[in-house]
Formats: sequence, structure tokens, C-alpha cells
Amino acid sequence: MHEMSLMAGMMEIIQDEARDQGFARVTKVVLEIGQLAGVEPEAMRFAFDVCTEGSVAEGADLEIEATEGLARCVSCARTFPVRACYGTCPFCAGADLRIVSGREMRLKFLDVE
Ligand SMILES: [Zn+2]
Repeated sequence: MHEMSLMAGMMEIIQDEARDQGFARVTKVVLEIGQLAGVEPEAMRFAFDVCTEGSVAEGADLEIEATEGLARCVSCARTFPVRACYGTCPFCAGADLRIVSGREMRLKFLDVE
């Protein structure tokens, strides 16, 4: 389950922020997760509960926002939404696609005390 290591990495960012900005408690965490990141929101919630235990974010609300997957076709240079990392261009049927968004996962917002 790679959600666990992703969340562990996210917790490091949160702990660093807590240290740098001097907040004692995180009450809400908003994560942006691309639809192509291969991350299961339910597994992410589970990992969040496990990883935040005993940390500044213990008991915080977790909100997950999905970002749309976008690909650009190398042949015709058009950009379009995709649901998978592979496929063909709907305009020219080219198969050489570059994913331009939807694979990323980032910390969007922290509500702190
Ligand atoms: Zn194309």
C-alpha cells in the first residue's frame, strides 16, 4: 500500500511546517490528489489516521480534492482530459501522450491553532 509512504512523506512536510511556523496543533488538512496518481482516497484516509497518531495533526480533519488528469498530444499539441496515463488522442488518434497534470499530490491547505 503506497498510500502509507506517501502519507508518511506528507507528515514530514506538516511537521516541518509546524516547527518553522510554531503551531501546536493542526485541525484540518486539505490534500490535492491527481486522478492519475493511483491513490485510493479511502486508503489515504486510513494512512492519515495511522500517520497522524501522536503528531501535531492527530484528530485533524482530512479533506481530499481530486485534480483532473490532463494529457497533451505530442503529434497535434492539443491538451485534453484523460482518465488514465495511457490511451490515444481524441483529435488525431496519436498515441504519444504526455501527462501534464493529475499525477501530483500536494498539501494544499493547513488549518492550525
Ligand atoms: Zn493529437
